[in-house]
Amino acid sequence: MPNVPKWVADQMENLLPSKFMDIEVGTITRYSSELKQITFRADLSKIDSFPGSAINFRVSDTEIRHYTPIDFDKTNGTFDVLFHIHGNGPGSHLADNLKPGDRLKVSVPGGRKLYDHSKHSHFFFGDETSLGFYISLLKEINKNNGKVYGIFELNEPNLTIPYDIKTVPKTGDAALAALDNYMHDFRDSIFYLTGNVAAVQRFRSALKKHDISSRNIKLQGYWANGSAGL
Ligand SMILES: Cc1cc2nc3c(=O)[nH]c(=O)nc-3n(C[C@H](O)[C@H](O)[C@H](O)COP(=O)(O)OP(=O)(O)OC[C@H]3O[C@@H](n4cnc5c(N)ncnc54)[C@H](O)[C@@H]3O)c2cc1C
Repeated sequence: MPNVPKWVADQMENLLPSKFMDIEVGTITRYSSELKQITFRADLSKIDSFPGSAINFRVSDTEIRHYTPIDFDKTNGTFDVLFHIHGNGPGSHLADNLKPGDRLKVSVPGGRKLYDHSKHSHFFFGDETSLGFYISLLKEINKNNGKVYGIFELNEPNLTIPYDIKTVPKTGDAALAALDNYMHDFRDSIFYLTGNVAAVQRFRSALKKHDISSRNIKLQGYWANGSAGL
């Protein structure tokens, strides 16, 4: 529900306090003009999370947007979020303007459990909004000595992000060409497709042409051109 009446959002926060966390902005790291990672501090001692979970930020009186917590650390009371500052909506605007010491209320982690523990090989496709999901699952995959590969379609300022992933420009078919190159080694993977709806659908069609079964494709659109929230 990306848009809700103000009174409903207020009531939810007041009547269901166990579903919300009070968080404070800590350290801020800028990877590029469009990518901002924020460490949030909170009492997480009674709050559970899972790899690839999502939290809801109330980005205005009436609008709610999803983001992915990374490094959810109950002991230290911290987690990070990697925000894509795309400049077109209230979520991006809020993230762009957050300063150390700002306080917010966000939902506790929830959402779909996409991580498949049973698989050895994991393949990611996404964009700036999917980087948090990738980082969050990567920790688990490494713990389990899994094999991992990621193709991320990024805007030009973000192509040099310091993660061990294949970054390609959003324009053209570079992602599909990269898929052709890596298909041989990653055919037995579970494929996680997140980010822009049209892009993940295009990538899924390419996987089907490579005879990848739908069973091994986990798809979640994060945003659609011209739509507010999802
Ligand atoms: C489960 C889940 C987890 C997510 N995790 C993250 C995360 O960790 N980090 C993150 O940055 N995003 C994440 N997203 C995506 C984020 O919620 C959307 O990008 C959201 O639309 C941003 O809200 P907004 O208010 O900035 O823009 P909106 O008001 O939703 O949209 C306004 C306009 O901006 C466009 N737009 C939205 N997102 C983008 C974008 N990324 N690039 C270019 N144009 C865009 C829309 O098409 C629309 O035209 C996640 C989404 C889901 C569903």
